Amino acid sequence: MGATWSNWSGSVTFTPDEVAHPRSTDDVATLIRKAAKSGRGVRPIGSGHSSTPIMVPEHTLISLDNLTGVEEVTRHGGDGGASPGGGDDVALARVLPGTGLADLGAELGEHGLGMENLGDVDYQAIAGALGTGTHGTGENLGNLSSTLVGGTLVTGSGETRTFGVEAGLGVREAQEDELTRAAQVSLGTLGILTTLTMRVRPAYELHRRNWITHIDWVLENFDALARSHRHVDFYWYPRSDLAQVRVLDEVTEDNADLDPAERPQSSGFAGGLEMPRRHTWLKKEERGPNYAVIPNDRALEFDEMEYMIDRRAGLDVFRQVRERVKERHRANVGWRVLVRTVAPDRALLSNCYERDTMTIALLQNTTLPYQDYFDDMEPVLLDGGGRPHWGKKHTRTGEHLRAMYPEWDTFREWRERLDPDGVLLNDYLRELLEVGA
Ligand SMILES: Cc1cc2nc3c(=O)[nH]c(=O)nc-3n(C[C@H](O)[C@H](O)[C@H](O)COP(=O)(O)OP(=O)(O)OC[C@H]3O[C@@H](n4cnc5c(N)ncnc54)[C@H](O)[C@@H]3O)c2cc1C
Repeated sequence: MGATWSNWSGSVTFTPDEVAHPRSTDDVATLIRKAAKSGRGVRPIGSGHSSTPIMVPEHTLISLDNLTGVEEVTRHGGDGGASPGGGDDVALARVLPGTGLADLGAELGEHGLGMENLGDVDYQAIAGALGTGTHGTGENLGNLSSTLVGGTLVTGSGETRTFGVEAGLGVREAQEDELTRAAQVSLGTLGILTTLTMRVRPAYELHRRNWITHIDWVLENFDALARSHRHVDFYWYPRSDLAQVRVLDEVTEDNADLDPAERPQSSGFAGGLEMPRRHTWLKKEERGPNYAVIPNDRALEFDEMEYMIDRRAGLDVFRQVRERVKERHRANVGWRVLVRTVAPDRALLSNCYERDTMTIALLQNTTLPYQDYFDDMEPVLLDGGGRPHWGKKHTRTGEHLRAMYPEWDTFREWRERLDPDGVLLNDYLRELLEVGA
């Protein structure tokens, strides 16, 4: 029996029989074959930042913390158009699964490259972050998983299988390849990823500003802000009517020499839009490499529920969330509601599948109860057509989820093919993916 293990917020705890730390793809294959032969179950884990029991093993927890770093970078000028911006600037990085996002950003920077986007923090391991469809914000920026174009999987039968560009496909073909689209958001149920090839781009700097202002101004101007900045998100503080709106823009050759306050996007208040004079102030401004400027530090632990809503309905759903929080939960909610946008993608289980998305996340300090709050708010997010984040609190199981994902059964067929004996499953995942239903 191993030591008791707990996720980041402390809301999921378990005691695995053993914890393995493989050093190679062959080690992973040996572990899985051994488990399959003796009827035991394994689960891969990243940094343990998910708050559903997706990482809980029936027996052996497999940490990829000995498999870290960037193995190789290649530039593909001939693949013009494969980048979301449609330019000729596609580069690929083959990365090991246990690489932390902070280290990955810095290492790519040394190669003159950068990830297209990052989420709120950079504590996760890359395979763990992709496993649940981790996203940042930006109307034209997909979630992190949408940048996976190839990799190596050790399947539930212990076979080593490459896919996408690692199996010889071009970047464009890989983006359409069914196994690649299954592997982009896999919840670790197709196999254990031992390499990931990701689409990256030339390194870039960002200029970030966080404003505190009235929530009504943010709601009125959100669409205009989102159109005119690379990244925009906002936090609403339920105990007040204030919001913190954050905008980030790429520093280009044209604006690099200007003082931040004089850059085109900076003239006046955010994007030239008139902000209210009262209760408005610039809380933070910084400029630097993308991997240093996008993520925040989160010292306070919290539990979180997040739903992905159709972008067109998103602000209305947020207004309903705000109404209900004000009516019923203001006294008990110690933290904030976060709103972001994500571009569509085609991963079979992406919660941004084929739709422009607005994400609404409810955050609650771990020192305060979250269950009643989340239970009461979830119907509002579901009625708004939301799909839950795979790594955050929700109550949905396969019977509800299948209607949300047009390629649900295609994913389930891949899972069945790659892990026929369910070596990589646990009870939570069986219910989630309707295995044996
Ligand atoms: C403080 C905080 C901030 C967050 N911010 C954001 C955010 O901005 N945006 C967002 O979308 N989410 C966010 N999340 C959620 C978080 O990004 C996801 O839960 C993510 O999956 C956690 O990554 P991890 O490395 O901790 O993976 P884990 O939670 O350890 O694992 C996640 C999944 O990946 C699988 N997995 C791990 N390694 C492998 C592998 N090698 N091969 C196959 N499968 C594997 C696991 O089995 C599991 O199913 C946040 C969470 C916290 C606690």
